[in-house]
Amino acid sequence: RKEDPAVNQIKDAMRIVKHKFLVLSGKGGVGKSTFSSQLALALSLNDKIISKARQGQAAMDEDEDEDMNVTQVGVLDIDLCGPSIPRMFGLESQQLHQSNLGWSPAYYKDNLAVVSIGFMLPNADDPVIWRGPKKNGLIKQFLRDVYWGDSLDYLVIDTPPGTSDEHITVVQYLREADLDGAIVITTPQDVSCADVRRELSFCKKVNIPVIGVVENMSGFVCPNCKNETKIFKPSKSGGGEKLAEQFGVPFLGRIPLDPRVMNACENGKSIIEEMPDSPASQALLEIVQKVK
Ligand code: ADP
Repeated sequence: RKEDPAVNQIKDAMRIVKHKFLVLSGKGGVGKSTFSSQLALALSLNDKIISKARQGQAAMDEDEDEDMNVTQVGVLDIDLCGPSIPRMFGLESQQLHQSNLGWSPAYYKDNLAVVSIGFMLPNADDPVIWRGPKKNGLIKQFLRDVYWGDSLDYLVIDTPPGTSDEHITVVQYLREADLDGAIVITTPQDVSCADVRRELSFCKKVNIPVIGVVENMSGFVCPNCKNETKIFKPSKSGGGEKLAEQFGVPFLGRIPLDPRVMNACENGKSIIEEMPDSPASQALLEIVQKVK
């Protein structure tokens, strides 16, 4: 795709975006979209909310400070097979609009913009069965033609599970656009780790930096007694941390399985705001700190 003019057009379009993260997972159901949406929500929170949450406390409304710097965050969902991002932000009924500036995202709040293939389907439950060229065309348009505003501090790109055409397309298109790198989500299970191994090899092969590995659903924190139970048999290989070590990439942290995480996601809420004292939120805060 050397001569594709889109590479340079995308480079230009992406100039307004300071940081770009790809979120990858070896297989489906490990919490990739959950992580993408929670990462975006966390990045969009102001410093006061974050520092209160670090102490395990929710910020009061009066902590809102008009003068505070606002971080602009965008989420781009190119998981064309199962776009779950609109649901996670409670934006299912939204559609993308075109203006002379480009496609306008849906706004979850003023500083959090969302673009998803889900906004383009007449019925949210319709499966997307598209051939390669059409998928490539859409990804190209998403990267080139969305008007995110004057500037974005972070763009979180949620990708399909595994390594498919979509990944190769997005990586090729972003090759001139200063992609920060990939965050790889796994669970502690062996099989997921084997899939992740492939994911890490892919990053190496296409030359994208790995920002780190996140282990999701690492143990279950009982909401009543707060004790942690290991649900998945700990993998012989030592899970995400060992894997990260083997590949020489950072291990970013473990997010436990917690029913409240699912609830928060289903209601389009940040776990950091909803349940700041939970182990899941504390883990996410640590991860966000490392990623920033
Ligand atoms: P993927 O994008 O990898 O297919 P999802 O993000 O859709 O996976 O997550 C699959 C399901 O698991 C969702 O119902 C989500 O709410 C739930 N889930 C993800 N992470 C957690 C967690 N840490 N605790 C509880 N539920 C979780």
